[in-house]
Amino acid sequence: MSEISGYIKQHEETIRPLYKDYSLKFWDLSLKGDSESEKALVESKQRYLSVYNNRAEFRQLQEWRTASEALPELEARQFKLIYDTFVPNQIEEDVLRDLVERETQIENLFNTFRADFEGGKASDNQLRQIFKSEPDIKRRKAAWEASKQVGQAIAPKLLELIRVRNREARKLGYADYYTMMFDLQELDIQWVFSLFDNLERLSETAFSSVKADLDATLKKKYNVDETDCHPWLYSDPFFQEYPAAGGGEALDEIFKDKDIEALTKAHFLSIGLDVTDLLKTADLYEREGKSQHAFCLDVDHEGDVRVLCNIAKNERWMSTMLHEFGHAVYDKFNDKSMPFLLRTPAHILSTEAIAMLNGRMSKNPEWLVKIGGLTAGEANRLSTSAWKVLRSEMLIFLRWAITLVRFERELYRDPEQDLNHLWWSNVRRYQKVTPPSDRNLPDWASKTHLSSSPAYYQNYVLGELMASQVLRFIHKEVVNSESYVGHTSVGLYLKEKVFKPGARFQWNEMLRHATGEPLNPEHFVNQFA
Ligand SMILES: [Zn+2]
Repeated sequence: MSEISGYIKQHEETIRPLYKDYSLKFWDLSLKGDSESEKALVESKQRYLSVYNNRAEFRQLQEWRTASEALPELEARQFKLIYDTFVPNQIEEDVLRDLVERETQIENLFNTFRADFEGGKASDNQLRQIFKSEPDIKRRKAAWEASKQVGQAIAPKLLELIRVRNREARKLGYADYYTMMFDLQELDIQWVFSLFDNLERLSETAFSSVKADLDATLKKKYNVDETDCHPWLYSDPFFQEYPAAGGGEALDEIFKDKDIEALTKAHFLSIGLDVTDLLKTADLYEREGKSQHAFCLDVDHEGDVRVLCNIAKNERWMSTMLHEFGHAVYDKFNDKSMPFLLRTPAHILSTEAIAMLNGRMSKNPEWLVKIGGLTAGEANRLSTSAWKVLRSEMLIFLRWAITLVRFERELYRDPEQDLNHLWWSNVRRYQKVTPPSDRNLPDWASKTHLSSSPAYYQNYVLGELMASQVLRFIHKEVVNSESYVGHTSVGLYLKEKVFKPGARFQWNEMLRHATGEPLNPEHFVNQFA
């Protein structure tokens, strides 16, 4: 027994500096996008993963597996997490190197790719601006097509990567890589997909009506009289967001001359979570070569937490800042007395839940008054449209997520099938968007998550469900009203019940401790559908 305990301690000492170095190299590459940083990241990731690649050590872990269940709680949990990290890395060293190189190459291609558009190069933000405000439907279509160019560059590389991932997962006894990742994420694949079936059914009427309403508005706006609803009608390349034209312009108007950083700080301070230090280490504005996305990185589990954003003064970036700093407070307020390996969120979906809970606030009338500085009258006038926007967003995102998650499962089950066709038939069925005629291109591959975060997207949906459940509990038991901002008791509750337990409990167990019940989709459905 003490032998296993000793091993866990020694493993922690080994992995701690390697993890930190890997995080720092990842941060560097995201800011610079140059080949030198790419090389440094590949090397660092290899050093980190080579720990989990050790065959002899894994055999030892297998021998200890049964005995480890009798360890004290925290040690048993650490052992399981270590074991689960070893499993997918039990592959030949040269294959591991090959995988890391492929993944990094694809990631960097995404970061640095700029589409050919109207005789020049266009960034994601530039194309996004066209989806948002361009009145000419032909130019919208051209911009939409430009946004898919990256998919054509990525698809062959991604498919090769998937074949290698599948081949290695099969050697480890799994049906494919996707199934393995669900298992290692402590997600029951049958349960998740039957939950998705239910969510599809429960959202069908509400989504159809939101979309019919939206399509009528957009067609009028862009002077389109056909019955088709082509993807360039919407305000983002995948129809995953609710278009501003649906009622969000008024919300964008609010933020056009606001200090987004200051509002982020004020929001978290109002619930008793200070992010002043985190704003200082963050990198928040657009630059050449820099990643165009947004993320939060816990560099060392010791308080070095960094956020990357590309702030523009609109509601989307306000919401994104609240979202990313939601991840950041989860990481910042971990329990420093816990072992290194448990000083992380319980699960991807639980950190997404906290991020989403806060990200939703930029459309909350109470927030708009208390933090956004609107008068009660202004907020009142906006409240119907703000609620409509939030609800529509949730429904639109849900249907988009169903499209992507179902597609990704198929992508791994059989990467040789007609994926271009499968993609558009999913889009038509779940999102009710008309596929462009005669298009046979890998448009799916332009979605970064399929490359950078495999078997991840279901966590966004599960995270939204958890966010609704936690919010419901806060209203009912923590602040005793339909309120969230301005109550330091909220931060106190989150710190004690969600952040500090870290990865000590399996995610659903943590949720049960924090809200009195395991994940229950009813809270989300009652709120939005
Ligand atoms: Zn997130």
